[in-house]
Amino acid sequence: MSDRLHEIGEARSYAGGATVRVVRAGWFRPDAGGFFGVVPRALWGPLAETDERGRLRCRLNLLLVEAGGKRILVETGTGPRMTDKDRDIKGVEGGDPAAALRAVGEDPASIDFVVVSHLHYDHAGGMIGADGRPAFRNARYVVQRDEAEAAHGDELRLQGIMEVEQLDAVRAAGQLAEVNGEVELVEGVRVLRTGGHTRGSQALLIGVDNPGGRAGDPTERAIFWGDLIPTRWQVPVRWTSAYDDYPIDAVEIRSELVPRAAAEGWWCYFSHDPGPMPVRIEATEKGGFRAAS
Ligand SMILES: [Zn+2]
Repeated sequence: MSDRLHEIGEARSYAGGATVRVVRAGWFRPDAGGFFGVVPRALWGPLAETDERGRLRCRLNLLLVEAGGKRILVETGTGPRMTDKDRDIKGVEGGDPAAALRAVGEDPASIDFVVVSHLHYDHAGGMIGADGRPAFRNARYVVQRDEAEAAHGDELRLQGIMEVEQLDAVRAAGQLAEVNGEVELVEGVRVLRTGGHTRGSQALLIGVDNPGGRAGDPTERAIFWGDLIPTRWQVPVRWTSAYDDYPIDAVEIRSELVPRAAAEGWWCYFSHDPGPMPVRIEATEKGGFRAAS
């Protein structure tokens, strides 16, 4: 992958016939201390460079999934409505998902489903366009019910950090599809509520059987982790970010899914990784896990 603001990767096929392409919708620069949370700089420092303001240079990654005759966009970036001051602090370049799609020759009106992993600004900001209306006029927006309820809830920590305006605009337009738990969107493509990062965070599973279903099928499977694992650097299951609202839940669900991803060779897509994707996860000699190089 290059340094370009917008680009689209090669299509990859998975079990059940779904194809996946990575769409790069720009850059942002999260504070490195917040991003790595409890992990000491001595451990993450060798993996990731910081700029003069202590920030990491990360991608705003979207996925374009095609399956069962439907087109699914995963994530919506920051959208075009941030203030200049906010864009400067967070180092946002680009971030508008409709602009990113157009730049790579895709029509936003062709999207049937928009999967929003959670309602933080860098994932849900682009649910609406500059005019305040849904940016994908023919799409149903898939959000976990827990997440939508948390956005309107009274937990003080969450005040001001969930994209309530975006959620409400999509709901008012009749385009919100609230789901609960593990739900198949089209054959072979399903969302899975993971919680952890936020109360109703969800991942996307492609070609993966139900948890508890058969294992060891050699067909190719993939997962988009959302911010449960935002980059390849954070595959170690205890590497909890300060942005994880429910860190104990995050460690638990990662401890459940990461070993399975490694054992079954799931191809991994990360929400903010700047490097080439997908990648697989492998076990380390010490019993942990890392991204395969
Ligand atoms: Zn994020």
